[in-house]
Amino acid sequence: MTKFVFVTGGVLSSVGKGITTSSIGKMLQTRGYKVTVIKIDPYVNVDAGTMNPYIHGEVYVTDDGGETDLDLGGYERFLDLNLPKVNNITTGQIYQTVINKERRGDFLGKCVQIVPHITNEIKRRIRLVAKRSKVDVVLTECGGTVGDIEGLPFLEAIRQMRLEEGFQNTLYVHIALIPILDVTGEMKTKPLQHSVNELRRIGIQPDIIVARCRKMIDSEALRKIALFGTIPENAVFCSYNVPSIYQVPLILDKQGMGKYACKRLGIPQKRPKWSEWKRFVNSVENPRFEVKIGLVGKYAGLADSYVSMNEALRHGGAAWQTRISIDYIKAERLERDVSRLELLKNYDGIFIPYGFGPRGTEGKMRAIRFARENNVPFLGICYGFQLAVVEFARNVCGLEDANSTEVNPDTTNPVIDLMPEQRGVEYKGATMRLGAHKIIVKKNTLAYTLYGTEEIYERHRHRWEVNRDYWNVLQKHGLVFSGKSPDGRRIEILELPDKFFFLASQFHGEFKSRPGKPDPEYYGFVKACLDRKLGNTKPEF
Ligand code: GLN
Repeated sequence: MTKFVFVTGGVLSSVGKGITTSSIGKMLQTRGYKVTVIKIDPYVNVDAGTMNPYIHGEVYVTDDGGETDLDLGGYERFLDLNLPKVNNITTGQIYQTVINKERRGDFLGKCVQIVPHITNEIKRRIRLVAKRSKVDVVLTECGGTVGDIEGLPFLEAIRQMRLEEGFQNTLYVHIALIPILDVTGEMKTKPLQHSVNELRRIGIQPDIIVARCRKMIDSEALRKIALFGTIPENAVFCSYNVPSIYQVPLILDKQGMGKYACKRLGIPQKRPKWSEWKRFVNSVENPRFEVKIGLVGKYAGLADSYVSMNEALRHGGAAWQTRISIDYIKAERLERDVSRLELLKNYDGIFIPYGFGPRGTEGKMRAIRFARENNVPFLGICYGFQLAVVEFARNVCGLEDANSTEVNPDTTNPVIDLMPEQRGVEYKGATMRLGAHKIIVKKNTLAYTLYGTEEIYERHRHRWEVNRDYWNVLQKHGLVFSGKSPDGRRIEILELPDKFFFLASQFHGEFKSRPGKPDPEYYGFVKACLDRKLGNTKPEF
C-alpha cells in the first residue's frame, strides 16, 4: 500500500517547503524506503517552459523532456532520482485534460465542476505517479501558500485523499515561518497559528508542523505551536538556519522527525544510514581550497536562474575539497564598459551559462574571448557553447560578422542556425529539442578523459545548433568537436586542446549532477580552475 505525504506552506512563500519535502524524502530513503516526489504548481501555465527564468528561476529539464519547476531539480539532487515530467502537476494540465474530456463528450449530460471533476483529475494524477513509480511513499509538495485562491482545488483534492486512502496512509506536513522581533528577540507564532487555521478551514488538520525560524525555536514557542496547532509537542519540528541546505535532513531527523513520520504512517522503524550523506556534507563544509568563478549571464541578478549550475559547480568543488565562490556578472555590463573586462582577471575560471535572445550576447563573447586569449579555464553550456563557436568564427577564423541567427537573422555567416526540424514550429510550449539524448564522445579528447566512455546521455533544451556548412573552417582553425549525436549530424561538445581547459557543450550537464556524483564537465572545470590557481602546468583529473 503506497503512503502519501502532503507538504503545504504558510505565512509566505520561500519558507523552504522544497527543502523540507526533500528532507522528509531523505529521512525515509536512509531508512531503506523508496520514495518519489510530486510538485504541484497552481499556476495556469501547462509547464514552466514558457516562464521567464529571471522572475521564476530556472526551468528544470527532466530526462523525458519535461520543462518543469526548479523544485524538481532540488528533489532529484537530494534524493538522487530521475523524475518523469508527470511529477510536476499544474493547473494548466488539469484544466486542459478536463476540458478535452468535456469536448470529447466524456461527461455528456453533466455540468462539469471544480468538485468533483477538477479534484478527481488532480487525484488521478497523484495516483498515477504512485502506480507508475512503485514506491513506498509518494511525497507531494503543494506550491504557493495556504490561502491562495489558485491553490484551493489542490488542497481540496488532498483533503479528499485522506478519506479515500485512510488515516494511516496519509500524512499532512505544514511548514510556516516564525519571525523573530528585532527589538525584543521574541519568537512570534501568531502568523503560523493563522496559517494552520486557514488550513483547517479548508478541512485539513496538519499532523506535523515544521517551524521555519532563524534560530532553534524555544520551548515557549514550541508549546504554543503544539497547543494552537492541536498536535502533540513531539510533532513540532524546527528548521533553523544552517551553513548548507544539505544539513536540513540531519537536523530534522535529530529532532525525531523521521521516527515520528514512520510511526504515524505505520511503517516499520529502521535505523537510518546517514554516513554517506554526512561525508558529502562534510566535504562541502570543510574545504581546503577555494576558487573564484565569474559567471557571465543575462539573468545574473537572480541566483535562482542558475540554481542547477550553481549546484553542479558545488558538487564538482566538493569532489576536490574546493569551495566555489561565484560572482554573477551581467553580460551587458561588459558591453557598456570595456574596461570591466579587466576585472575578469580576478577569476580562476569563466563560465557562460544557458540563455535566449540577443541581449547580452556581445558581452558574453567578450568574456569568452578573454578566457581564450588569456588561457583562463572556460566552460560554456548551451548558449555558452553556441557563443563560443561564434566568437571563434569571428576572431580566429576571421568571419567578422559571424553570428547565430537567433541574434541576427540576416548575418552572412550563420555559424549557429536553427535546427531544420524547428523550421515552421509556431507554438512555443514544449517545442524545443528537449530531454536526454545519446551522445558519442570522441576518443583521445578532453571530453573522453572526463567521461571515460564513448556513450553518454545528457539533457537538452535548445532550438539552434552549429551549422554544418562551417564545421570544416572551424576545425581547420583548431576547434575540436569531441561529441556528436549518434547520426553524426549534430555537434554536442567542443574543445580547444591547446588551451589549459576550454570546453563547451550543447547539452546541460548540470541537470544530471548529484551530491557525491558530480557531472564530468563541471568536475573537470572546477579542477582546472584549481590547478590553474595553484600554478600547475596542466590540469590533472
Ligand atoms: N537560445 C539557444 C537555443 O535555443 C540556447 C538555449 C539554451 O541556452 N538553453 O538554441
